[in-house]
Amino acid sequence: MRDVVILGSTGSIGTQALEVIAERPDRFRVAGLAAGGGNVQLLARQILEVRPAAVAVAQASAVQDLQLALYAAAKDRGWNAGEMTLPRILAGPDAATELAATECDVVLNGITGSAGLGATLAALKAGTTLALANKESLVVGGRLVTDAAAEGQIVAVDSEHSAIAQCLRAGRREEVRKVIVTASGGPFRGWTRQRMAEVTPDQAMKHPTWNMGRVITINSATLVNKALEVLEAALLYDVDLDDIEAVAHPQSIVHSMVEFVDGSTMAQCSPPDMKLPIALGLTWPDRLADAAPACDWTKAGEWTFEPIDHEAFPAIMLAKRAGRAGGTAPAVFNAANEACVDAFCAGQIGFLDIVDTVGAVLEEHLAGPVPNRAEGSVSAADVGSTFTGPDQVTVDAVWAADRWARTRAAQLASGEDAADATRPFA
Ligand code: NDP
Repeated sequence: MRDVVILGSTGSIGTQALEVIAERPDRFRVAGLAAGGGNVQLLARQILEVRPAAVAVAQASAVQDLQLALYAAAKDRGWNAGEMTLPRILAGPDAATELAATECDVVLNGITGSAGLGATLAALKAGTTLALANKESLVVGGRLVTDAAAEGQIVAVDSEHSAIAQCLRAGRREEVRKVIVTASGGPFRGWTRQRMAEVTPDQAMKHPTWNMGRVITINSATLVNKALEVLEAALLYDVDLDDIEAVAHPQSIVHSMVEFVDGSTMAQCSPPDMKLPIALGLTWPDRLADAAPACDWTKAGEWTFEPIDHEAFPAIMLAKRAGRAGGTAPAVFNAANEACVDAFCAGQIGFLDIVDTVGAVLEEHLAGPVPNRAEGSVSAADVGSTFTGPDQVTVDAVWAADRWARTRAAQLASGEDAADATRPFA
Protein backbone atom coordinates (compact mmCIF):
# COMPACT_ATOMS: atom_id res chain seq x y z
CA MET A 1 0.00 0.00 0.00
CA ARG A 2 1.43 3.41 -0.99
CA ASP A 3 0.26 6.67 0.56
CA VAL A 4 0.17 9.26 -2.20
CA VAL A 5 -0.09 13.05 -2.12
CA ILE A 6 -1.45 14.50 -5.37
CA LEU A 7 -0.51 18.09 -6.14
CA GLY A 8 -2.61 19.67 -8.89
CA SER A 9 -5.44 17.19 -8.26
CA THR A 10 -8.03 19.12 -10.31
CA GLY A 11 -5.85 19.27 -13.43
CA SER A 12 -5.37 16.89 -16.31
CA ILE A 13 -2.57 14.91 -14.61
CA GLY A 14 -4.22 15.07 -11.19
CA THR A 15 -7.61 13.75 -12.31
CA GLN A 16 -6.01 10.92 -14.30
CA ALA A 17 -3.82 10.02 -11.32
CA LEU A 18 -6.95 9.80 -9.16
CA GLU A 19 -8.51 7.48 -11.76
CA VAL A 20 -5.44 5.22 -11.65
CA ILE A 21 -5.63 5.19 -7.85
CA ALA A 22 -9.40 4.56 -7.79
CA GLU A 23 -8.92 1.45 -9.91
CA ARG A 24 -6.42 -0.03 -7.41
CA PRO A 25 -7.60 0.62 -3.84
CA ASP A 26 -5.49 -2.37 -2.80
CA ARG A 27 -2.30 -0.54 -3.90
CA PHE A 28 -2.83 3.15 -3.14
CA ARG A 29 -4.30 5.48 -0.53
CA VAL A 30 -4.60 9.26 -1.05
CA ALA A 31 -2.96 11.09 1.86
CA GLY A 32 -3.39 14.62 0.55
CA LEU A 33 -4.66 16.74 -2.31
CA ALA A 34 -3.52 20.18 -3.49
CA ALA A 35 -5.01 22.53 -6.05
CA GLY A 36 -4.92 26.19 -6.98
CA GLY A 37 -8.50 26.94 -5.89
CA GLY A 38 -9.89 27.62 -9.37
CA ASN A 39 -12.29 24.66 -9.31
CA VAL A 40 -13.53 24.16 -5.73
CA GLN A 41 -16.54 22.05 -6.84
CA LEU A 42 -14.29 19.41 -8.36
CA LEU A 43 -11.90 19.58 -5.42
CA ALA A 44 -14.81 19.11 -3.00
CA ARG A 45 -16.02 16.02 -4.91
CA GLN A 46 -12.49 14.60 -4.88
CA ILE A 47 -12.22 15.18 -1.12
CA LEU A 48 -15.46 13.28 -0.48
CA GLU A 49 -14.32 10.49 -2.78
CA VAL A 50 -10.84 9.85 -1.40
CA ARG A 51 -11.11 11.34 2.15
CA PRO A 52 -7.53 12.72 2.41
CA ALA A 53 -6.16 13.76 5.78
CA ALA A 54 -5.03 17.14 4.40
CA VAL A 55 -5.87 19.47 1.53
CA ALA A 56 -3.88 22.46 0.27
CA VAL A 57 -5.38 25.39 -1.64
CA ALA A 58 -3.12 28.07 -3.12
CA GLN A 59 -5.75 30.85 -3.19
CA ALA A 60 -6.58 31.46 0.46
CA SER A 61 -9.72 33.32 -0.63
CA ALA A 62 -11.09 30.07 -2.11
CA VAL A 63 -11.15 28.20 1.21
CA GLN A 64 -14.59 29.45 2.25
CA ASP A 65 -15.99 28.50 -1.16
CA LEU A 66 -14.37 25.08 -0.79
CA GLN A 67 -16.06 24.54 2.59
CA LEU A 68 -19.43 25.53 1.12
CA ALA A 69 -18.84 23.25 -1.87
CA LEU A 70 -17.96 20.41 0.50
CA TYR A 71 -21.22 20.78 2.45
CA ALA A 72 -23.20 21.02 -0.83
CA ALA A 73 -21.49 17.92 -2.26
CA ALA A 74 -22.09 16.02 1.00
CA LYS A 75 -25.75 17.03 0.93
CA ASP A 76 -26.03 15.79 -2.68
CA ARG A 77 -24.89 12.41 -1.42
CA GLY A 78 -27.56 12.48 1.25
CA TRP A 79 -25.07 12.84 4.10
CA ASN A 80 -25.93 14.67 7.34
CA ALA A 81 -23.56 17.41 8.56
CA GLY A 82 -22.25 15.22 11.40
CA GLU A 83 -21.29 12.40 9.00
CA MET A 84 -18.49 14.38 7.41
CA THR A 85 -15.06 14.99 8.94
CA LEU A 86 -13.33 17.90 7.27
CA PRO A 87 -9.71 17.36 6.26
CA ARG A 88 -7.01 19.67 7.58
CA ILE A 89 -7.03 22.59 5.14
CA LEU A 90 -3.79 24.44 4.38
CA ALA A 91 -4.21 27.73 2.53
CA GLY A 92 -1.99 30.19 0.69
CA PRO A 93 0.76 30.19 -1.92
CA ASP A 94 2.98 27.87 0.17
CA ALA A 95 0.22 25.40 1.05
CA ALA A 96 1.24 22.80 -1.56
CA THR A 97 4.86 23.06 -0.40
CA GLU A 98 3.76 22.40 3.19
CA LEU A 99 1.67 19.44 2.06
CA ALA A 100 4.55 18.04 -0.03
CA ALA A 101 6.66 17.87 3.14
CA THR A 102 4.17 15.68 5.02
CA GLU A 103 4.89 12.01 5.57
CA CYS A 104 3.84 9.76 2.66
CA ASP A 105 5.38 7.36 0.17
CA VAL A 106 4.98 9.31 -3.08
CA VAL A 107 4.31 12.95 -3.91
CA LEU A 108 2.94 13.32 -7.43
CA ASN A 109 3.65 16.88 -8.54
CA GLY A 110 1.07 17.79 -11.21
CA ILE A 111 1.06 21.54 -10.54
CA THR A 112 1.54 23.61 -13.66
CA GLY A 113 4.43 26.06 -14.04
CA SER A 114 7.33 27.15 -11.86
CA ALA A 115 4.85 27.47 -8.96
CA GLY A 116 5.64 23.79 -8.37
CA LEU A 117 9.29 24.41 -7.43
CA GLY A 118 8.73 24.77 -3.67
CA ALA A 119 6.76 21.52 -3.53
CA THR A 120 9.38 19.65 -5.55
CA LEU A 121 12.14 20.78 -3.20
CA ALA A 122 10.02 20.05 -0.11
CA ALA A 123 9.23 16.48 -1.20
CA LEU A 124 12.89 15.81 -1.96
CA LYS A 125 13.99 17.27 1.38
CA ALA A 126 11.47 15.05 3.17
CA GLY A 127 13.05 12.01 1.48
CA THR A 128 9.80 11.11 -0.32
CA THR A 129 9.71 9.63 -3.81
CA LEU A 130 8.77 12.42 -6.22
CA ALA A 131 6.67 11.38 -9.22
CA LEU A 132 7.34 14.44 -11.33
CA ALA A 133 4.97 15.73 -13.99
CA ASN A 134 5.77 19.38 -13.19
CA LYS A 135 8.83 19.57 -15.47
CA GLU A 136 9.05 23.32 -14.97
CA SER A 137 10.23 22.91 -11.37
CA LEU A 138 13.12 20.72 -12.49
CA VAL A 139 14.03 22.99 -15.38
CA VAL A 140 13.98 26.24 -13.38
CA GLY A 141 15.64 24.73 -10.30
CA GLY A 142 18.22 22.79 -12.36
CA ARG A 143 21.06 21.49 -10.20
CA LEU A 144 19.34 22.88 -7.07
CA VAL A 145 16.74 20.18 -7.63
CA THR A 146 19.00 17.36 -8.84
CA ASP A 147 21.47 17.97 -6.00
CA ALA A 148 18.61 17.74 -3.49
CA ALA A 149 17.52 14.37 -4.87
CA ALA A 150 18.90 11.01 -3.83
CA GLU A 151 19.62 8.47 -6.58
CA GLY A 152 16.27 7.39 -8.08
CA GLN A 153 14.21 9.71 -5.85
CA ILE A 154 12.74 11.56 -8.84
CA VAL A 155 10.59 9.37 -11.07
CA ALA A 156 9.51 10.97 -14.34
CA VAL A 157 5.80 11.12 -15.19
CA ASP A 158 6.21 12.96 -18.49
CA SER A 159 5.59 10.19 -21.05
CA GLU A 160 8.85 10.96 -22.88
CA HIS A 161 10.98 10.75 -19.74
CA SER A 162 9.16 7.69 -18.50
CA ALA A 163 10.00 6.15 -21.90
CA ILE A 164 13.66 7.16 -21.58
CA ALA A 165 13.87 5.62 -18.09
CA GLN A 166 12.41 2.39 -19.45
CA CYS A 167 14.81 2.36 -22.42
CA LEU A 168 17.79 3.07 -20.16
CA ARG A 169 17.14 -0.23 -18.38
CA ALA A 170 18.44 -1.90 -21.57
CA GLY A 171 22.08 -0.90 -21.17
CA ARG A 172 24.77 0.60 -18.94
CA ARG A 173 25.04 4.36 -18.55
CA GLU A 174 28.40 4.53 -20.39
CA GLU A 175 26.85 2.63 -23.32
CA VAL A 176 24.37 5.44 -24.07
CA ARG A 177 25.22 7.51 -27.14
CA LYS A 178 22.13 9.59 -27.66
CA VAL A 179 18.66 10.29 -26.29
CA ILE A 180 15.92 10.95 -28.83
CA VAL A 181 12.86 12.76 -27.48
CA THR A 182 9.81 12.36 -29.70
CA ALA A 183 7.32 15.16 -30.33
CA SER A 184 3.86 14.99 -31.85
CA GLY A 185 4.80 18.25 -33.56
CA GLY A 186 1.60 19.90 -32.32
CA PRO A 187 -1.22 21.26 -34.49
CA PHE A 188 1.12 23.31 -36.69
CA ARG A 189 3.62 20.65 -37.72
CA GLY A 190 4.77 21.37 -41.28
CA TRP A 191 3.60 25.00 -41.16
CA THR A 192 5.90 27.88 -42.09
CA ARG A 193 6.44 30.86 -39.78
CA GLN A 194 4.45 33.00 -42.19
CA ARG A 195 1.48 30.65 -42.01
CA MET A 196 1.60 30.63 -38.20
CA ALA A 197 1.47 34.44 -37.92
CA GLU A 198 -2.32 34.55 -37.62
CA VAL A 199 -2.81 31.49 -35.40
CA THR A 200 -5.49 31.99 -32.72
CA PRO A 201 -5.58 30.58 -29.16
CA ASP A 202 -8.46 28.27 -30.19
CA GLN A 203 -6.37 26.78 -32.99
CA ALA A 204 -3.36 26.38 -30.69
CA MET A 205 -5.52 24.62 -28.08
CA LYS A 206 -6.38 21.82 -30.55
CA HIS A 207 -3.67 19.27 -29.86
CA PRO A 208 -3.73 16.37 -32.34
CA THR A 209 -3.03 13.50 -29.92
CA TRP A 210 -3.11 14.58 -26.24
CA ASN A 211 -5.78 16.20 -24.08
CA MET A 212 -3.92 18.35 -21.53
CA GLY A 213 -4.04 21.56 -19.50
CA ARG A 214 -3.91 25.01 -21.13
CA VAL A 215 -0.24 25.91 -20.66
CA ILE A 216 1.20 22.57 -21.82
CA THR A 217 -1.17 22.53 -24.81
CA ILE A 218 -0.02 25.96 -26.00
CA ASN A 219 3.57 24.92 -25.23
CA SER A 220 3.08 21.87 -27.44
CA ALA A 221 2.01 24.11 -30.30
CA THR A 222 5.09 26.36 -29.99
CA LEU A 223 7.33 23.36 -29.17
CA VAL A 224 8.30 25.09 -25.91
CA ASN A 225 7.05 21.93 -24.21
CA LYS A 226 9.57 19.87 -26.18
CA ALA A 227 12.22 22.47 -25.38
CA LEU A 228 11.50 22.11 -21.64
CA GLU A 229 11.55 18.32 -22.05
CA VAL A 230 15.00 18.40 -23.65
CA LEU A 231 16.28 20.32 -20.61
CA GLU A 232 14.39 17.94 -18.32
CA ALA A 233 16.02 14.90 -19.96
CA ALA A 234 19.49 16.40 -19.61
CA LEU A 235 18.95 17.00 -15.89
CA LEU A 236 17.15 13.77 -15.06
CA TYR A 237 19.51 11.42 -16.84
CA ASP A 238 22.71 13.49 -16.78
CA VAL A 239 23.02 13.58 -20.56
CA ASP A 240 24.86 16.33 -22.42
CA LEU A 241 22.49 18.66 -24.29
CA ASP A 242 24.46 17.98 -27.48
CA ASP A 243 23.49 14.30 -27.15
CA ILE A 244 19.74 14.96 -26.97
CA GLU A 245 17.73 15.28 -30.16
CA ALA A 246 14.05 15.91 -30.73
CA VAL A 247 12.20 14.25 -33.61
CA ALA A 248 8.61 14.69 -34.76
CA HIS A 249 6.47 11.56 -34.53
CA PRO A 250 2.87 12.60 -35.19
CA GLN A 251 1.24 9.36 -34.00
CA SER A 252 2.61 9.77 -30.40
CA ILE A 253 3.09 6.02 -29.96
CA VAL A 254 6.88 5.90 -29.65
CA HIS A 255 7.31 8.06 -26.56
CA SER A 256 11.10 8.42 -26.83
CA MET A 257 14.22 6.42 -27.61
CA VAL A 258 17.75 5.77 -26.43
CA GLU A 259 20.55 5.00 -28.88
CA PHE A 260 23.43 2.89 -27.59
CA VAL A 261 27.08 2.87 -28.70
CA ASP A 262 26.72 -0.31 -30.80
CA GLY A 263 24.09 1.30 -33.03
CA SER A 264 21.09 -0.27 -31.28
CA THR A 265 18.11 1.97 -30.50
CA MET A 266 15.56 1.11 -27.80
CA ALA A 267 12.10 2.66 -28.09
CA GLN A 268 9.14 2.57 -25.70
CA CYS A 269 5.77 2.28 -27.43
CA SER A 270 2.17 2.45 -26.25
CA PRO A 271 -0.95 4.29 -27.40
CA PRO A 272 -1.06 7.89 -26.14
CA ASP A 273 -2.49 7.55 -22.61
CA MET A 274 -0.96 9.32 -19.60
CA LYS A 275 -2.29 6.65 -17.24
CA LEU A 276 0.64 4.42 -18.14
CA PRO A 277 3.44 6.83 -17.15
CA ILE A 278 1.38 8.06 -14.18
CA ALA A 279 0.97 4.48 -12.90
CA LEU A 280 4.66 3.76 -13.47
CA GLY A 281 5.49 6.99 -11.65
CA LEU A 282 3.52 5.75 -8.64
CA THR A 283 4.92 2.21 -8.62
CA TRP A 284 8.44 2.53 -10.11
CA PRO A 285 10.48 0.36 -10.54
CA ASP A 286 7.54 -2.07 -10.68
CA ARG A 287 4.81 -2.07 -13.30
CA LEU A 288 1.11 -1.88 -12.51
CA ALA A 289 -0.81 -4.56 -14.44
CA ASP A 290 -3.37 -3.23 -16.96
CA ALA A 291 -2.50 0.41 -16.28
CA ALA A 292 -3.44 1.30 -19.89
CA PRO A 293 -4.24 -0.45 -23.18
CA ALA A 294 -1.25 -1.79 -25.16
CA CYS A 295 -0.65 -1.43 -28.93
CA ASP A 296 -3.01 -3.53 -31.04
CA TRP A 297 -0.80 -5.43 -33.52
CA THR A 298 -3.77 -7.02 -35.31
CA LYS A 299 -4.59 -3.66 -36.91
CA ALA A 300 -2.55 -2.05 -39.69
CA GLY A 301 -0.85 1.14 -38.63
CA GLU A 302 1.86 3.54 -39.65
CA TRP A 303 4.49 5.22 -37.51
CA THR A 304 6.37 8.09 -39.10
CA PHE A 305 9.30 10.25 -38.00
CA GLU A 306 10.51 13.56 -39.38
CA PRO A 307 13.09 16.15 -38.37
CA ILE A 308 12.01 19.22 -36.43
CA ASP A 309 11.93 22.46 -38.44
CA HIS A 310 14.03 24.57 -36.08
CA GLU A 311 13.63 27.68 -38.21
CA ALA A 312 9.85 27.67 -37.89
CA PHE A 313 10.06 26.42 -34.27
CA PRO A 314 13.14 27.95 -32.62
CA ALA A 315 12.14 27.06 -29.03
CA ILE A 316 14.35 23.98 -28.68
CA MET A 317 17.50 25.78 -29.83
CA LEU A 318 16.67 28.68 -27.51
CA ALA A 319 16.17 26.33 -24.57
CA LYS A 320 19.46 24.59 -25.29
CA ARG A 321 21.14 28.01 -25.15
CA ALA A 322 19.51 28.64 -21.77
CA GLY A 323 20.42 25.13 -20.59
CA ARG A 324 24.07 25.48 -21.59
CA ALA A 325 24.29 28.79 -19.71
CA GLY A 326 22.56 27.15 -16.72
CA GLY A 327 22.14 29.17 -13.51
CA THR A 328 19.14 31.48 -13.76
CA ALA A 329 18.83 31.28 -17.58
CA PRO A 330 16.38 28.31 -17.73
CA ALA A 331 14.18 30.02 -15.11
CA VAL A 332 14.05 33.12 -17.30
CA PHE A 333 13.23 31.04 -20.38
CA ASN A 334 10.35 29.35 -18.55
CA ALA A 335 8.92 32.40 -16.75
CA ALA A 336 9.00 34.58 -19.87
CA ASN A 337 7.17 31.80 -21.67
CA GLU A 338 4.50 31.46 -18.94
CA ALA A 339 3.87 35.22 -19.15
CA CYS A 340 3.73 35.10 -22.96
CA VAL A 341 1.28 32.17 -22.96
CA ASP A 342 -1.04 34.24 -20.74
CA ALA A 343 -0.62 37.26 -23.04
CA PHE A 344 -1.33 35.14 -26.13
CA CYS A 345 -4.44 33.58 -24.58
CA ALA A 346 -5.63 37.06 -23.59
CA GLY A 347 -5.26 38.18 -27.22
CA GLN A 348 -2.45 40.64 -26.39
CA ILE A 349 0.24 39.10 -28.58
CA GLY A 350 0.40 36.87 -31.64
CA PHE A 351 1.44 33.23 -31.70
CA LEU A 352 4.94 33.90 -33.06
CA ASP A 353 5.47 36.63 -30.46
CA ILE A 354 5.51 33.99 -27.72
CA VAL A 355 8.88 32.45 -28.55
CA ASP A 356 10.27 35.68 -30.05
CA THR A 357 9.61 37.49 -26.77
CA VAL A 358 11.05 34.61 -24.72
CA GLY A 359 14.19 34.89 -26.88
CA ALA A 360 14.42 38.66 -26.35
CA VAL A 361 14.03 38.35 -22.56
CA LEU A 362 16.57 35.53 -22.37
CA GLU A 363 19.13 37.48 -24.39
CA GLU A 364 18.66 40.54 -22.18
CA HIS A 365 19.24 38.39 -19.14
CA LEU A 366 22.38 36.80 -20.56
CA ALA A 367 23.73 40.11 -21.84
CA GLY A 368 23.84 41.57 -18.34
CA PRO A 369 22.56 44.92 -17.03
CA VAL A 370 20.43 46.80 -19.57
CA PRO A 371 22.62 49.60 -21.05
CA ASN A 372 20.25 52.51 -20.49
CA ARG A 373 20.10 51.93 -16.75
CA ALA A 374 22.62 53.82 -14.62
CA GLU A 375 25.67 51.77 -13.71
CA GLY A 376 25.58 50.42 -10.19
CA SER A 377 21.98 51.42 -9.52
CA VAL A 378 19.65 48.46 -9.29
CA SER A 379 16.04 49.55 -9.20
CA ALA A 380 13.36 47.23 -7.82
CA ALA A 381 12.37 46.43 -11.42
CA ASP A 382 15.93 45.29 -12.21
CA VAL A 383 16.26 42.75 -9.39
CA GLY A 384 16.69 39.39 -11.09
CA SER A 385 17.62 40.91 -14.45
CA THR A 386 21.28 39.95 -14.15
CA PHE A 387 22.32 36.41 -14.98
CA THR A 388 23.57 34.29 -12.09
CA GLY A 389 25.80 31.41 -13.19
CA PRO A 390 25.45 27.75 -12.16
CA ASP A 391 28.06 27.99 -9.39
CA GLN A 392 26.39 30.87 -7.55
CA VAL A 393 22.73 30.14 -8.18
CA THR A 394 20.36 29.95 -5.19
CA VAL A 395 16.61 29.41 -4.88
CA ASP A 396 16.22 33.14 -4.14
CA ALA A 397 18.14 34.03 -7.32
CA VAL A 398 15.88 31.69 -9.32
CA TRP A 399 12.74 33.34 -7.92
CA ALA A 400 14.14 36.84 -8.56
CA ALA A 401 14.95 35.88 -12.17
CA ASP A 402 11.49 34.30 -12.55
CA ARG A 403 9.75 37.49 -11.34
CA TRP A 404 11.92 39.76 -13.47
CA ALA A 405 11.38 37.66 -16.61
CA ARG A 406 7.59 37.69 -16.17
CA THR A 407 7.54 41.46 -15.75
CA ARG A 408 9.95 42.01 -18.63
CA ALA A 409 8.01 39.70 -20.96
CA ALA A 410 4.74 41.44 -20.04
CA GLN A 411 6.36 44.82 -20.76
CA LEU A 412 7.58 43.67 -24.15
CA ALA A 413 4.23 42.01 -24.89
CA SER A 414 2.41 45.26 -24.19
CA GLY A 415 4.79 47.17 -26.48
CA GLU A 416 6.33 49.03 -23.52
CA ASP A 417 10.10 49.58 -23.71
CA ALA A 418 10.08 48.11 -27.22
CA ALA A 419 13.52 49.56 -28.01
CA ASP A 420 15.21 46.99 -25.80
CA ALA A 421 13.35 44.19 -27.51
CA THR A 422 15.11 44.92 -30.77
CA ARG A 423 18.53 44.27 -29.23
CA PRO A 424 20.12 41.68 -31.49
CA PHE A 425 20.31 38.14 -30.18
CA ALA A 426 23.83 37.01 -29.34
P1 NDP B 1 -3.66 21.65 -15.63
O1 NDP B 1 -3.67 23.09 -15.95
O2 NDP B 1 -4.69 20.77 -16.20
O3 NDP B 1 -3.69 21.46 -14.03
C1 NDP B 1 -2.88 22.19 -13.16
C2 NDP B 1 -3.19 21.84 -11.73
O4 NDP B 1 -2.34 22.58 -10.86
C3 NDP B 1 -4.63 22.22 -11.33
O5 NDP B 1 -5.09 21.27 -10.41
C4 NDP B 1 -4.44 23.57 -10.62
O6 NDP B 1 -5.46 23.88 -9.71
C5 NDP B 1 -3.16 23.27 -9.89
N1 NDP B 1 -2.40 24.42 -9.43
C6 NDP B 1 -2.06 25.53 -10.12
N2 NDP B 1 -1.31 26.34 -9.35
C7 NDP B 1 -1.18 25.72 -8.15
C8 NDP B 1 -0.53 26.05 -6.93
N3 NDP B 1 0.15 27.19 -6.78
N4 NDP B 1 -0.60 25.16 -5.89
C9 NDP B 1 -1.30 24.01 -6.02
N5 NDP B 1 -1.94 23.64 -7.16
C10 NDP B 1 -1.87 24.49 -8.21
O7 NDP B 1 -2.19 21.15 -16.01
P2 NDP B 1 -1.75 19.67 -16.47
O8 NDP B 1 -2.31 18.65 -15.55
O9 NDP B 1 -1.94 19.52 -17.92
O10 NDP B 1 -0.18 19.77 -16.26
C11 NDP B 1 0.39 19.74 -14.97
C12 NDP B 1 1.90 19.54 -15.10
O11 NDP B 1 2.13 18.26 -15.68
C13 NDP B 1 2.59 20.56 -16.01
O12 NDP B 1 3.86 20.81 -15.53
C14 NDP B 1 2.68 19.83 -17.35
O13 NDP B 1 3.74 20.28 -18.14
C15 NDP B 1 2.90 18.40 -16.86
N6 NDP B 1 2.50 17.37 -17.81
C16 NDP B 1 1.18 17.28 -18.18
C17 NDP B 1 0.75 16.31 -19.07
C18 NDP B 1 -0.68 16.14 -19.44
O14 NDP B 1 -1.02 15.19 -20.15
N7 NDP B 1 -1.57 17.02 -19.00
C19 NDP B 1 1.73 15.38 -19.67
C20 NDP B 1 3.07 15.52 -19.16
C21 NDP B 1 3.42 16.49 -18.28
P3 NDP B 1 -6.82 24.70 -10.17
O15 NDP B 1 -7.64 23.70 -10.94
O16 NDP B 1 -7.44 25.10 -8.92
O17 NDP B 1 -6.34 25.82 -11.01
